Amino acid sequence: MVILVNLSKKALNVSPSSTLKIAAKVKELKSQGVDIISFTVGEPDFDTPDCVNEAAIEAIKKGFTKYTDSSGIVELRKEICEKLKKDNGLSYNPSQIVVSNGAKHSLANIFAAILNEGDEVIIFAPYWLSYPEMVSLASGVPVIVYTDAENEFVPTKEQLEKALTDKTKAIIFNSPCNPTGGIYGIETLEMIAKFAVDNDLIVISDEIYEKLVYDESDKHISIASLNEDIFKRTIVVNGMSKAYAMTGWRIGYSAASQEIASVISNLQSHLASNPNSIAQMAALSALRYADASIEEMRKQFAARRDYMHSRVKEFPLVSAVKPRGAFYVFIDASELCGTTIDGVEISDATVLGEVILSKTNVAVVPCADFGFKNHIRLSYATSMENIKEGLDRLEAFINENYKG
Ligand code: PLP
Repeated sequence: MVILVNLSKKALNVSPSSTLKIAAKVKELKSQGVDIISFTVGEPDFDTPDCVNEAAIEAIKKGFTKYTDSSGIVELRKEICEKLKKDNGLSYNPSQIVVSNGAKHSLANIFAAILNEGDEVIIFAPYWLSYPEMVSLASGVPVIVYTDAENEFVPTKEQLEKALTDKTKAIIFNSPCNPTGGIYGIETLEMIAKFAVDNDLIVISDEIYEKLVYDESDKHISIASLNEDIFKRTIVVNGMSKAYAMTGWRIGYSAASQEIASVISNLQSHLASNPNSIAQMAALSALRYADASIEEMRKQFAARRDYMHSRVKEFPLVSAVKPRGAFYVFIDASELCGTTIDGVEISDATVLGEVILSKTNVAVVPCADFGFKNHIRLSYATSMENIKEGLDRLEAFINENYKG
């Protein structure tokens, strides 16, 4: 028997990703033949576009299967620069881009590159569950600022000022947001930008859901595009997973000042060598040729968003702000908590999620790990048929268990 002693305290403090854990549970139940409707997935249910698959096959056939530049092939970095210019009005050169194994890897690189022991990072809750863990792993301290539904889940200036200390190093946010589907408008972005510039902070702008915006009146704005001062101190993170239905290919990237990009690149060269060569060719093709495919997916997501939100709005006892981007509906289930169902005390949405799963075979994501313990997240990255059936079951569950 191996006795494990003195493992890294930082590593031992990391809890497993609860969303991946729920996804594994759903897979297991499905493999046992249980008729599960899953609203848990954080990935498009669409196939990767053909032009992307073909580029990968071509890369294999041509033997493009060796190590590449550790920051990614220069053709891809140039294409990313063009995308950032065209879509976001940002001017970078390829040496400021580091392509990584997914945006998650880009973010882990960034925290490792910028944080010293005890540096604080302001994170707005609800947040994507990996941010606080990543900050802690890089010896930083997550400082959580709780936003609320009344303010469409964006922070206020007063909240930022309250969170500021002499240890504050950076702010991270995600717009469009997982889990709320909220989008940061120009006024909020300007407020955050001014706060960051005035207080000499780095901003990490996670724009992974950029292409999944549904209303004519909304356009994604990168905070880095507001002015030269904020551009210099912003690290933009983006990737192929969500918009291009390429979650398994693992390609994400960061764009930063030369100083920061070089440190990220050095780290990556030792920790990962380079992102997968074949996936890089696939990403290049996606950026060049997949616009029509991603627009088609966006339209389908928009129809599902409308349907899911309009149904949830009519459910008794719960509420949800209409999401404007990403592919999630974030539901306040506080009124469903604090009761007892079949002898089980529903202390929070984690227990609620378990009861819903056992009674209805619908899997939802409880949001304690996103900073909101009485909320659940439903993903509409699943077919309209599944959405209808799953929502019927959820509605019946509420009606049957919360009468009177
Ligand atoms: N950022 C946010 C907000 C996400 O929701 C995700 C994935 O769920 C990621 C980053 C990471 O994406 P990937 O590593 O697949 O590129």
